[in-house]
Amino acid sequence: MSLTPLETLQQIFGYESFRGVQADIIGHVVEGGDALVLMPTGGGKSLCYQIPAIVREGVGIVISPLIALMQDQVDALLELGVRAAFLNSTQDRAEAHRVEQAYLSGQLDLLYVAPERLLTPRCMDLISQGRVALFAIDEAHCVSQWGHDFRPEYLGLSVLAERWPNVPRIALTATATETTRAEIASRLALESARHFVAGFDRPNICYRIIEKNEVRRQLLAFLQAEHAGDCGIVYALSRSRVEETAAFLSKNGIEALPYHAGLDAATRARHQARFLREDGLVMVATIAFGMGVNKPDVRFVAHIDLPKSVEGYYQETGRAGRDGLPATAWLAYGLQDVVRQRRMIDDSGGEPAYQRRLVAQLDAMLALCETISCRRKNLLAYFGQTIEPCGNCDTCLQPPVSWDGTVAAQKMLSAIYRLWRERGQRFGAGHIIDVLRGQSTERVRQYDHQSLSVFGVGADLSVAAWRGVLRQLLALSLVTVDLEGYGTLALTADSREVLKGERTLMFKRSAEAPRRPAGRRAGSAAAIVLPPDAQARFEVLRAWRSGVAQNHGVPAYVIFHDATLREIALAQPQSLEDLSGISGVGARKREAYGEEILSCVSV
Ligand code: ADP
Ligand code: ZN
Repeated sequence: MSLTPLETLQQIFGYESFRGVQADIIGHVVEGGDALVLMPTGGGKSLCYQIPAIVREGVGIVISPLIALMQDQVDALLELGVRAAFLNSTQDRAEAHRVEQAYLSGQLDLLYVAPERLLTPRCMDLISQGRVALFAIDEAHCVSQWGHDFRPEYLGLSVLAERWPNVPRIALTATATETTRAEIASRLALESARHFVAGFDRPNICYRIIEKNEVRRQLLAFLQAEHAGDCGIVYALSRSRVEETAAFLSKNGIEALPYHAGLDAATRARHQARFLREDGLVMVATIAFGMGVNKPDVRFVAHIDLPKSVEGYYQETGRAGRDGLPATAWLAYGLQDVVRQRRMIDDSGGEPAYQRRLVAQLDAMLALCETISCRRKNLLAYFGQTIEPCGNCDTCLQPPVSWDGTVAAQKMLSAIYRLWRERGQRFGAGHIIDVLRGQSTERVRQYDHQSLSVFGVGADLSVAAWRGVLRQLLALSLVTVDLEGYGTLALTADSREVLKGERTLMFKRSAEAPRRPAGRRAGSAAAIVLPPDAQARFEVLRAWRSGVAQNHGVPAYVIFHDATLREIALAQPQSLEDLSGISGVGARKREAYGEEILSCVSV
C-alpha cells in the first residue's frame, strides 16, 4: 500500500499542498513520462523527482554535478525517513560496496551519482542490474555549451535514453531562456518530453540596483544597516576582488570567507561547509560558488560587479530567501564594469557569433540596471513572463525621477563623433566628460581640445550626471565600447537617429547620494518581527536545533528551517497532533523530535 504523491508530500515532507506546477510534473513522471522542468532557483525542483522516486517502484537515480553537496542532500532525506545514498569518490570501497548492495536489493528510494561516475561501464552495469524508478538530471543547463556552467560530462547523458528507453527521465534547471531550453532538450534527447515552465517570480526577494562609487563602503553600509548578523553571499568577478572584499568585511566586523576556483579543494570544501553550518556567515565568492547550495536562510545576495548575463544574475540572486521569508538582491554597478566586460569579451577570442551572443547578454543586463520601470517586470520579461509592477523592488518603492535627456545625449554623441571625425581620435569616458564640461586638463591642452565646438557645452551637468548619461546610452546601444581600443567610445548605427533629433530619450536621474527604500529594512530577518514571547520560544527552539544538528553532523536547516521554527514558536503547539499541522514537520521528524519540541515551547 504505497502512498499517493499528495500523501507523500504531507506525511513525509510535512507540507500541506503542492506549489504551482509541482503536482502536474509529479503526476506526469509517476505515470512514466519524460519531463523537462524549468523552475526558478528556490522554486521547489527537488520534490519533483524525489516524490516520484519514492512513489514509483525501484530506485530514483539522481545525477548531480556537485559531489561536495551530495552528503547534505542525502542527510536531509535521511532525516525525513527517506532511504537515500550517494556514490562518489569521497567514499572508501567498503562504503561504496554497501551502497551498491542496498541499490541492488531495492533498499533505496534515491541514489545520487555524479555524471562522470554514472557513465563508467562499471556503474552502468551496476545500474542495469537493479530496478530504476527514474533518472533525474539536476542542473540540466550544465549540458549547454554556451551557458555559464558547462560540464562536458553532461554530454554523455543522452545514452540513458538509449539504454533505458522505458525509464522516465526528468531534467531540471533554473536557467530558462528559449535557446537554453532547446539546447537542453536536444542534447539530452528530451525533444518529446513534456516541458513544464513554472512561474519565475520570487516575490519575497527585493531587487535593488545602485550606482557604484566606493563599492566596498557601499556594501558595508548596506550590510550594517540592513543585514547585520544575516547569512548571505557577495559575488565578485575576480579572485583578487573576492579576497580583498572578504578581508575588508572581516576587518570591519562582518565575518566573511572567500571562495573561488584559485583556492585549493580542501579550503573550498571547508569554507562551503562552514557557510552551510554556521549562522550569519557571509561568503564572498566568484560564480564558482553557489550551484546546488540550497541553504534556505540566505538573507541577501549582493553583486559588487556587473554580472555577465540576466540568466546568471537571476540564478545567483535566486539563492536568497528560499525559505520564503523576505530577502534582498543588491547590485552595485558602474561605467567601469561595462568597459571591463566588453574588453573581456573581446579578449575571450571566441567565434564572432559567440562574442555577439555575449555582447547581447551584457546589453540585456545593462538594460535591467538602467530601467526606470519595475526591475522584476524587466527580469521576468527576459524569461517571457509578464507581471504588473511588483511593489518590492527599488524602482517600484522609490520611482526614479526621469528627465528628458535628448539634448545631453546629443552633446555626448556629437563629442564622440567630432573627436573621431575631425581628429581621428577616440577616447574613453573620462576625457569625453572633461571635454563636455570644459575642463582644461593636461590632456585637453595636449590635444588642443578647447578648440572643439563641443568644448564646455555640458558644463551644466555634474560628472556623475554625465556618467549616468553615458551608462544609459550604453544600455540603449547608442554608444558602444570599442573592442579594439582601450575602452574607447564609438557611435553605433542607431546613434544617428538621436543626433538628427528623431528620437527622444528619457533618462533616469542619477542618485547623488546612496539611497535605500525609505523606512524599510526590506530583506532583514529582523524585519519579520515575532511578538516577544514567541521570539523567546523561537530562540529556545534555535538553540535546541543547533544542538541536534551538531550531534547529527548536519547543517541546522536539515533539522528544521527557520520558517518552521517560527511557525512553531507562534502556534505554541500543545500536542503531537497540533504539531502535524505545521509546515515542514513530517511524520518522521514529529516522531523523532516532537516531544522535545513540545517541551521547548511549553516553557
Ligand atoms: P530548487 O531546487 O528549485 O532551487 P528546492 O527544491 O530546494 O528548490 O525548494 C526550495 C524550498 O521550498 C525548499 O526549502 C523546499 O523544502 C520548499 N518547498 C518546495 N516545495 C514545497 C511545497 N509544496 N510546500 C512547501 N515548501 C516547499
Ligand atoms: Zn518592482
